[in-house]
Amino acid sequence: MKIYNTLTLKKEDFVPIEKNKIRMYVCGPTVYDLIHIGNARPMIVFDVFRRFMEFSGYEVIYVSNFTDIDDKIINRANEEKVDASDVAKKYIKEAIIDMESIGVKMPTFTPKATEEIDGMIELIQSLINKGHAYKVDDGTVYFDVSSFKEYGKLSHKNLDELIEGVRDIKVTGKDQKKNFNDFVLWKPAKEGEPKWSSPFCEGRPGWHTECCVMAPKYCGGSLDIHAGGEDLIFPHHENEIAQYESNTGKTFANYWMHNAFLRINNEKMSKSLGNFKTVREIISKYNGNIFRLFMLSTHYRSPLNFSIDSDGKKSPELESAKAIYQRVCTCVERLLEILNFDAPNLDDPKEQIKLYDTSISIEDNFLEYSDKDISDAFKSLKGFRMQFVDKLNDDLNTADALTAIYEIVNIANRFIKKHDEEKFACDDLFKYMLYLLLIFNKVMGINVINKKEDLDSEIEDLINARSEAKKNKDFKKADEIRETLLNKGIVIEDTREGVKWKRV
Ligand code: AMP
Ligand code: ZN
Repeated sequence: MKIYNTLTLKKEDFVPIEKNKIRMYVCGPTVYDLIHIGNARPMIVFDVFRRFMEFSGYEVIYVSNFTDIDDKIINRANEEKVDASDVAKKYIKEAIIDMESIGVKMPTFTPKATEEIDGMIELIQSLINKGHAYKVDDGTVYFDVSSFKEYGKLSHKNLDELIEGVRDIKVTGKDQKKNFNDFVLWKPAKEGEPKWSSPFCEGRPGWHTECCVMAPKYCGGSLDIHAGGEDLIFPHHENEIAQYESNTGKTFANYWMHNAFLRINNEKMSKSLGNFKTVREIISKYNGNIFRLFMLSTHYRSPLNFSIDSDGKKSPELESAKAIYQRVCTCVERLLEILNFDAPNLDDPKEQIKLYDTSISIEDNFLEYSDKDISDAFKSLKGFRMQFVDKLNDDLNTADALTAIYEIVNIANRFIKKHDEEKFACDDLFKYMLYLLLIFNKVMGINVINKKEDLDSEIEDLINARSEAKKNKDFKKADEIRETLLNKGIVIEDTREGVKWKRV
């Protein structure tokens, strides 16, 4: 596996600290509102990284936090006249619902800042004792960046040219800072704010301290990989390194991965511009699988644009992801039908091993086929399987990995047609194609085993309207609706158990 490391600005071979084990930490959302589609980008891309590494045989400890104390949470609580902890609890619950709806596997641990205050106080005290932090008159504790010679190594900024990070916490006692870039480790509580007692003053920790306490605690020491959106490189991740490394003398993380930003209509997405889209809103129109496919169609280090038509109803990017998604689903459905297989349960790890082993054993034996068309197909399929894995091994190039999958679908569709038109049969070939698509399903977390609930609401409405028309003996209307459905690639069949549908 090669990973582009923000620290060295190079693609490097990935060597874990402990063989076959990966300790990774991804900065999670600040929970003051529903998560937006930008927050979903690190969630999805690093979830695929995790799934791929697990598929490749690693044990992955995947930690992602919820920032549950912050100015934005406090402001929201004041607006709603409730406790900050109620706001945080509510939006953690909502974030988990959204993560599930976009197929994100739950992290191994999801620590919360407010449950780790003791550890943060301990770290801050240790930094004071070692001369890396200092307290000013009002009780604010700052990290002294001049005490850490490597400050700026992640963002590749030189200490003199550093500008104050836009996300730095607004502090009291600012004038008493020794250096312009010194950042807050602890700050006194304002009237009515949540607070914890500490040796410094009654107050709360700064944002940059939580991750460098939670990450090593839950990962068990230094990290292999630390990840998040590119806005976090400076100051957040730079400040995490400064605290952890000056306190322990050890490297905080060997590889730093950062995703580029998701933009909306080619603009920055922000609340003030009013162009903010929540995951919840998007998922109500397109399902989580389609949304994932869209996210993964671009490499995680390239900016990704999301747009919405002027009528505010459709997104061209998601419409095209939807068409591709349905094409893959139909292909899998037809393969299952031809093989007379039930859809497998991919959540069962044994099933995953079986899929992979069987596809490799088919691959080992395919030279036995004398029919040139079949043996050529096997060869191409193997090539695309290897391309799929190689591309993911190349700094998680999901965009090119997906292209390999679409080629597999093209080949499968050609043989499905041959089966339908010429009664072509070769179970091993169909099995191999099916297994490759199910491996794709597992690694990308995109469910392509067609389920009834994946039928979108527009089609569902049409099917219901047709049933209604038939009930009212309006057969002309019923036939018209059948025709409309056919134009959308849906064939319906009236059976004794009710209306059945399939994609063509
Ligand atoms: P926040 O709640 O702002 O701390 O963000 C949580 C995570 O989402 C961080 O890793 C951010 O870098 C990431 N993030 C926020 N906005 C975007 C965006 N528009 N595109 C990609 N990642 C984002
Ligand atoms: Zn963080």
